[in-house]
Amino acid sequence: MSFSELGLSADILSAVASQGYSEPTSIQAQAIPAVLSGSDVMATAQTGTGKTAAFTLPLLQKLGENRSSGKPRVLVLTPTRELAGQVVDSVATYGGHMRLRTTAVYGGMPIGKQIGTLKKGVDVLVATPGRLIDHLERGTVDLSQVETVVLDEADRMLDMGFIQPIERILASLRGRRQTLLFSATFNGPVRKLAERFLSDPQRIELATPGGATDNVEQAAYLVDGNRKRALLSHLMSEEEWGQVLVFTRTKRGADKLAEQLERDGISSTAIHGDKTQGARTKALSAFKRSSVQALVATDVAARGLDIDRLPHVVNYDLPDNADDYVHRIGRTGRAGAQGRAVSLVSGDERNQLSAIERVVKDRIPTTTHEAFVPTQTGANRSKQGGPNRGSKGGGGRGNGGNRGQRPNR
Ligand code: AMP
Repeated sequence: MSFSELGLSADILSAVASQGYSEPTSIQAQAIPAVLSGSDVMATAQTGTGKTAAFTLPLLQKLGENRSSGKPRVLVLTPTRELAGQVVDSVATYGGHMRLRTTAVYGGMPIGKQIGTLKKGVDVLVATPGRLIDHLERGTVDLSQVETVVLDEADRMLDMGFIQPIERILASLRGRRQTLLFSATFNGPVRKLAERFLSDPQRIELATPGGATDNVEQAAYLVDGNRKRALLSHLMSEEEWGQVLVFTRTKRGADKLAEQLERDGISSTAIHGDKTQGARTKALSAFKRSSVQALVATDVAARGLDIDRLPHVVNYDLPDNADDYVHRIGRTGRAGAQGRAVSLVSGDERNQLSAIERVVKDRIPTTTHEAFVPTQTGANRSKQGGPNRGSKGGGGRGNGGNRGQRPNR
């Protein structure tokens, strides 16, 4: 399959070619014709699958077919400001040949400047739901010309409690419009939202439950909780890992771990919701420039970060639910590149690991490191040595057959 078969114009094709993309990703091959056909779309896709281009490219093409009215014709709702920024960047990259005005409005930034930008006229508006409501209430945005709405990472927007603003925004739009909903998972609340606001959508699903996890080699190390940091530092230097995105459960945990890694000689920075927007942008660009090796993040802060070909993701704390696990490991192995996701699992997290395996329908090869054998119960679960690389699924586990011996908690 090539981009030229998807019905895109020559200008868009050349923008794609200049990005060096040789062929569409699976979600792009399916979503681009669907969006061009004008139908509503409901797609299971997470970050890393090329989903941003999957909706941006056809929408740019459609925008080019009609004259600008100065009022937003495309509205993209995203859960975070980072993701909003990335959508704006994509529109600028792929739509460089068009005279389009694109802006993002999100919380945490002075509203005055946003009002000024909106007043000057906008074709593509990217917004976080809360801030958009703010503009609607002030009468500083006019959504009467919106032809297409994109709900990007809908599951995460609902997780973040945005259901009411989203419903209000969608209900305020009049006339026939096209609605595109992208979500990593289709749980009850997302399905309900789709039922209410999408009409006869084309459903697009990627083949595996994990979606982008196909290119990701997963591994878990059993280790005592208080030795996780030492193991991480050891693995990073012993195996010469490049850049690593490390997930912690709490903001404080993220700060603390970044400081400890620094003390171990690994340049690190933390990114989480208590940091100012300026600090978050600075941390992210330092990581992108490779001037820090480890970026320690909480789930919410990491959401939507666009980091090309990240080789390693580490679950320093296991996430509470499997969706977050899938989101996290989707940060590596992006768009065809191979990645590795390593989980550090303490004694009290083993049930969580099993729960994640049940949902991702994949056994995560589990092992211990000879210098960090856990002293807590269940240490005999696996063999020593490196995890069984390259193997996914049932055969990969070291001595995992003894999982039945684990204590019930
Ligand atoms: P996304 O899922 O939208 O966050 O995109 C993930 C990454 O894949 C981004 O860095 C894109 O630049 C890149 N990408 C998007 N489409 C393609 C493609 N067809 N071929 C290669 N890389 C792509």
